[in-house]
Amino acid sequence: MMLQDFGTTVLTCTPSYALYIAEVAADMEIDIRKLPLRVGVFGAEPWSDNMRKEIENKLNIDARDIYGLTEVIGPGVSMECEQKNGLHIFEDHFIAEIIDPETEEQLPYGETGELIFTSLTKEAFPVIRFRTRDITSLNPEPCECGRNIVRMHRVSGRTDDMIIIRGVNVFPSQIESVLMDIEEAEPHYELVIDRKGALDEIELRVEVNERIFSDEIRKLESIQSRIQNEIESVLGISIKVTLVEPKTIERSEGKAKRVRDLRPKE
Ligand SMILES: [Zn+2]
Repeated sequence: MMLQDFGTTVLTCTPSYALYIAEVAADMEIDIRKLPLRVGVFGAEPWSDNMRKEIENKLNIDARDIYGLTEVIGPGVSMECEQKNGLHIFEDHFIAEIIDPETEEQLPYGETGELIFTSLTKEAFPVIRFRTRDITSLNPEPCECGRNIVRMHRVSGRTDDMIIIRGVNVFPSQIESVLMDIEEAEPHYELVIDRKGALDEIELRVEVNERIFSDEIRKLESIQSRIQNEIESVLGISIKVTLVEPKTIERSEGKAKRVRDLRPKE
């Protein structure tokens, strides 16, 4: 309705949300390709060139990747030009480096490692050699668009265990801390992430003890919704919670595997 009413020409959101908008428009029998929309600026989650093509086809727009992080400035640290061949880092504001995350040694241009930023113009909360944990490489070659500021390759992953659900950063440790405060819940849980249509869905499977599990349904439902509400208020995203019988979550002898990511690899 807003796209129609305002004749919006630029859409900025996560790439998965753009696909969701396309899906909803199709369900409403609106031809979104015929709306005035011409450019999409998408970021906050990893996406592939295949997904770009899908978005461009479905919405009939030019889709560009944008990158940023809260600690540095938020969105707009780097962005793709019309060449869509790497994201130009705004070097008049940020010095970018790539390091080996293990040795912390600086790596030469072209090599893949962890991205580091030093801010030049930011006031009050400047950063010096801030470790982003994002894995990428830098390309100093002048771009065909005419800009000669360095380009970064699209981010391929992170050095830690953070998961990104619908553009929201989720750490398994956050979920763990919520469960710790709910006495009926056992510390055995797993997160199952899947993609339904264009949106990521996250399910928390958590064990409850025998006594509670054999309790009446109403009680189980109330524990379930309590966990759900707590997590929603901490993470800011909705999550499906399933209570399971004791001993149903697979145990690990080494580091616990908390996350089962069933999303298709891109
Ligand atoms: Zn360029």
